[in-house]
Amino acid sequence: MKKSFSLFIFSFIVFILLSSASNLGLITKQVEYKNDLIKKKNSLIKLHKKLGKPGPHDWLAKHDEPGETFEEYLDLDPILPTEKKKYLYISQLGELTSQEKEILKITEEFLAVYFNIPVKEGDIIATSKIPKKMRRKSPIDGTLQFNTRYILYDILLKKIPNDAAAYFAITQDGLWPGPGWNYVHGEASLWNRVAVCSLWNYGSPIKDGKINKKFLIRVLKLTSHEMGHMFSMNHCIKYECNMCGGNHIAEMDRYPLWLCPECMAKICWLTKLTPEERYENLKRFYKKYGLDREYDFCNKSLRIIKDK
Ligand SMILES: [Zn+2]
Ligand SMILES: [Zn+2]
Repeated sequence: MKKSFSLFIFSFIVFILLSSASNLGLITKQVEYKNDLIKKKNSLIKLHKKLGKPGPHDWLAKHDEPGETFEEYLDLDPILPTEKKKYLYISQLGELTSQEKEILKITEEFLAVYFNIPVKEGDIIATSKIPKKMRRKSPIDGTLQFNTRYILYDILLKKIPNDAAAYFAITQDGLWPGPGWNYVHGEASLWNRVAVCSLWNYGSPIKDGKINKKFLIRVLKLTSHEMGHMFSMNHCIKYECNMCGGNHIAEMDRYPLWLCPECMAKICWLTKLTPEERYENLKRFYKKYGLDREYDFCNKSLRIIKDK
């Protein structure tokens, strides 16, 4: 009896030691990965343009924001995809036109690459679910607008799938978040994995029988920006970056689809990819859709990382 008890204690101690060693190994790997990201993001700074003084109608002229470095982001304990919550769900809010659906398909492909995440199409959400007091006529052009907060917290949050890392709704109608706002193109929750985006005022999805690249780029920027928020990323205030806040469409057009070094490191962290892997994946997408500027940017970034 005594012998088998000692054996049990011995096995227990061995088990504790082995699991501590394996946890230690995991922590060491994470520290190495983090240090590698810091080194690479610092090497990329020279490729990026610092934000200038905001114009009178730009986001930063109206909103006082602190910005966020990669290290500060990690301290927030951000929302990340997990083994159990690993899919991005995208639902149409009201049915999109066939041309818009074509753009949506490409957007799904893009987000899957940009965030290294499998995408699933969610059910179409009927706009009839939005009550009368949560819709209005746009003060700009009189078109229909829906209240974003109602969509986020009274519709999406209540039906978010259990395995969703993030849950997106996309509508062709306009959006506004509440008093004092004329419109927004999208809004996301930083802590609840939900977001809504609007295609209103982006122009025509098709031009001369082909995908309108301007429309496509706007949608890719908007959706990836809101996705960043769903993974707890705050706005960027340091560089011209896809995570900069945009107060109007001209400001959004001014910022690139790519990310500054700080925001790039955050997305690498949440996707568990190295910057090289992420740029190579993005290059394939950009090549397929003829997005030359973005393709070149990936190449330049890769060259700098390899030379460092
Ligand atoms: Zn934003
Ligand atoms: Zn940034």
